[in-house]
Order: sequence, then C-alpha cells, then structure tokens
Amino acid sequence: MTASSPSSESGRGGRDSASAADGVDLVHTLLGLNSLEFDSTKRPPELEGLRLSLRTKVPWDILLIHDALVAAEKRSIAPRFANACTECSGEVVVARDAKRIAGMFVQCPHCGTLLYG
Ligand SMILES: [Zn+2]
Repeated sequence: MTASSPSSESGRGGRDSASAADGVDLVHTLLGLNSLEFDSTKRPPELEGLRLSLRTKVPWDILLIHDALVAAEKRSIAPRFANACTECSGEVVVARDAKRIAGMFVQCPHCGTLLYG
C-alpha cells in the first residue's frame, strides 16, 4: 500500500473567487435581505449599505420576485417542509424534474413565496 497523503497542498490553483452558483449563500443572502427590509421601518445608513450590497448578490429574476413580495408585505423566501409552504401552509408538491428558479427555488402557487428545500 502506498501511503498517499490525504490532504495535499500541491497545485496551488487560484481558486480564490467564490463560485457563482452557491445556493446556500443565496439563501442566506435572501434571509438577510428579508430581515433588513422587514424588521426596520427606519433603516440606518450603515444598514442601507449592507442591504444594497446584499442585493447585488441576488440574481435579477429573483430580485424581481423578492421586491414584489416585500412590497406586498410578505416574506420572499421560506423553507418548504413536508410538501408544504411554511409561509402559508399551502401544499406544494414539486416534481423531480420541475424547473427551479436559480436552480433551487420553487415559487409557492398559493402565496408566491420562493421556497427552498
Ligand atoms: Zn405559500
């Protein structure tokens, strides 16, 4: 048996840029946006900067849906649990080959929230 080193640091490829399709990061970004845009009626300027920087990370098609939902005073993103929307409790069955927005979200047919999971 040749002992191959389990973690080799060889080949320092320049992998410094974050991958574009980081779904977990996108969920966190949207959750952050939701709390920023909901939980404060008056936004201090420093939070406004954070909010804008979060928005630049969100794909425009999702941002459109997000803005429409927030304008209607709804949260734009929620987890899907047991084939149900956790925002409105409506049933949401997702086919295995269903098209997902940004590869990960389905829109609730009842309330329009973007569901992940
Ligand atoms: Zn719903």
